[in-house]
Amino acid sequence: HTLKAENSFKFADISVRLAGPERLQSKPEVKSLQFGKHFTDHMLKVEYDQRAGGWQRPIICPMEYLSLHPAAKVLHYAVELFEGMKAYRGFDDKIRIFRPELNMSRMNLSAARSGLPVFDPEELIQCMCRLISIDQEWVPHSHAASLYIRPTLIGTEATLGVGAPESALLYVILCPVGPYFGSSGVEKPVSLLADPSFIRAWPGGVGDRKMGSNYAPTIKVQETASMKGFQQVLWLYGEDRQITEAGTMNMFIVFKNHNGERELVTAPLNGLILPGITRLSILQLAKEWNEFKVSERVITMGELITLSKEERLLEVFGSGTACVVTPVSSIHYQGDEIKIPTTQTDNPIYKKILHTLTDIQYGAVAHPWARPI
Ligand code: PMP
Repeated sequence: HTLKAENSFKFADISVRLAGPERLQSKPEVKSLQFGKHFTDHMLKVEYDQRAGGWQRPIICPMEYLSLHPAAKVLHYAVELFEGMKAYRGFDDKIRIFRPELNMSRMNLSAARSGLPVFDPEELIQCMCRLISIDQEWVPHSHAASLYIRPTLIGTEATLGVGAPESALLYVILCPVGPYFGSSGVEKPVSLLADPSFIRAWPGGVGDRKMGSNYAPTIKVQETASMKGFQQVLWLYGEDRQITEAGTMNMFIVFKNHNGERELVTAPLNGLILPGITRLSILQLAKEWNEFKVSERVITMGELITLSKEERLLEVFGSGTACVVTPVSSIHYQGDEIKIPTTQTDNPIYKKILHTLTDIQYGAVAHPWARPI
């Protein structure tokens, strides 16, 4: 499969089968929304079958169960990948999605690494926009909530050989999701547990691809961290304890450098982290603002501890579609607690980023990154 899909499915071929009125569900209240628990009335499906010429026609249908052979490759070798994006109901009541072309190219990179078929990004974006517009009443009427979009691609071929599947299914489901920061609307800082005995990704691996197989091994570690009272796991790599990412967030560190200027640092795209769309957007905004130094480079726990001791550590925050940005108040590492003054810093960078991104997403400002559906 080449990354430029010559034989993509086409939005123009889409067929729509609407749920009958008896099947339409009532919509949950925004304050009772839990992440990924409520699904909308419809879904998008596109089958791929090599013997039938590759991609088939996209279908929008009522939300339904899948029927899979027990030997389907997804169930044995985790031939699966997914994406995570959101649709936002703006101040003007228009619904927008944020930089979907970046999710689509990341999805194709994950597909290429998994032996799954690639597709034309624009065709899937248009299919998803149609799905969202059919279920548009599910996009919360709230500027703190949104509709989470979960494109998924699985290998469905019913043979047990470890190999590229001859058949696959791409589908998209939608979930209304509540405000990440709870009803107060105030961002609550989180504490992280950094335990170097667990490794999320390594050079030459697939830490930079959004495959389901990257996530299952993190569950137990996350559970241990939660039991000890920490919200997220901070993943380190290597003898020098490089700071990579946390949970489903990329990491940013703000400190005062030796020239007395503020510097924003995040880990480089060296294969160990997911190339976050929020991460990229933050880097692009920060470079455009030109108010502080911006670096993509390796940063280690040793360096963080030195910055903290010298009182030059100003902010640590995570970035991702789910949380936009989340301030970090402490990192627990080898029995020590590194306290971070993120939410006590004057004029914090994380706040400016949070407000700028949410203004774009909810259409408070016109911006090419927000695409009306
Ligand atoms: N890292 C990981 C491991 C993730 O799962 C996510 C969520 N997709 C991110 C970082 C943040 O990426 P994005 O900004 O594209 O949501």
